[in-house]
Amino acid sequence: MAKRDFYDVLGVDKGADASTIKSAYRKLAMKHHPDRNPDNKDAEEKFREATEAYDVLKDDQKRAAYDQFGHAAFDGNGGGGRPGGGGFSGFSAGGFSDIFDEMFSDFMGGGRRQRRGQQSRKGSDLRYDLSVTLEQAFEGDTQKITIPVPASCESCGGSGAAKGSKPTTCSSCDGHGKIRAQQGFFSVERTCPTCQGQGEVISQPCTSCGGQGRIQKNKSLNVNIPKGVDTGTRIRLSGEGEAGLRGGPSGDLYIFINVKDHGLFTREGNNLFMTMPVPMVKAILGGTVDIPNLDGKMARVTLEEGTQSGHRLRLKGKGMPGLQGRGRGDMYVDIHVETPVNLNARQKELLAEMEKAGKNQNPESDSFVKRIKKMFGEG
Ligand SMILES: [Zn+2]
Ligand SMILES: [Zn+2]
Repeated sequence: MAKRDFYDVLGVDKGADASTIKSAYRKLAMKHHPDRNPDNKDAEEKFREATEAYDVLKDDQKRAAYDQFGHAAFDGNGGGGRPGGGGFSGFSAGGFSDIFDEMFSDFMGGGRRQRRGQQSRKGSDLRYDLSVTLEQAFEGDTQKITIPVPASCESCGGSGAAKGSKPTTCSSCDGHGKIRAQQGFFSVERTCPTCQGQGEVISQPCTSCGGQGRIQKNKSLNVNIPKGVDTGTRIRLSGEGEAGLRGGPSGDLYIFINVKDHGLFTREGNNLFMTMPVPMVKAILGGTVDIPNLDGKMARVTLEEGTQSGHRLRLKGKGMPGLQGRGRGDMYVDIHVETPVNLNARQKELLAEMEKAGKNQNPESDSFVKRIKKMFGEG
């Protein structure tokens, strides 16, 4: 099969200008694109042929060479039994392993990645660690945070091109981002080295962002802290992450909650725990104690006569609220009876008298002593 004339392939005159060639190629490419003609070998071949022709004719130097020497201008670059193998500049520079890799990936991909167009990219998700107090977690709160985020550059609207200029379609790949070539039996493509696969180039970079289209900005956000958050709770703020590249969507911002230690309470799930010191006399005689709650109020609780150290009170529903209103924890108060210190002589006297005046008033101690005696065989 003789290689067809490039002008014939595109159906244009030898003297056709660049825009005529371009629109002729566009028409053919649309018609024969592999995505539109799945598993159609004939269309695939036509598409490849048109792309090959266009690649030469759109480039003034290559076109001049072709006009002068015909297909022979691009021969001699290897290629198997197929005519015109490996003709494109930019392709032959890659070296064998490069070619092989791309050949392989193209083989797998079936050439469907042909037209990339502009490469917009979603911004990354960001993480922000936010410490809150137990009270904030109890009540819920709104907290203002300031985070440095790569934001879309305002000077250039995120395009990366200086004011008054625009990114231009990459002439090496005509905006494909890929350069495609025929190597032996394989159609291979490689990332366009001129635009790094972006499909466009920025000739005058924006001075504010250096052509990146993004700049670091401090962004203030009001974070809504829902009731019941705990260490490890994540709050997702959709679209508040890193700005997208070249008009791509922004990533999300994840707020990782850390609840700070509290001076009085420890927390397990939605339950709260607290140890409460009670003076010895109050533990002996009984009375009321006021237990602080996270809502700032006090809960008054009556202690029975003879309350022991380690006695646990349960205050139902006085724990943490569940996230999204689900369930409510309890509060557990462990009593710690405090032994008085710094007694004067008179107090000591009174206590000794008290001790003498009663019997069987320390049942636990008595039974403990009995058990010790038994252990030593004296019981
Ligand atoms: Zn390019
Ligand atoms: Zn900019």
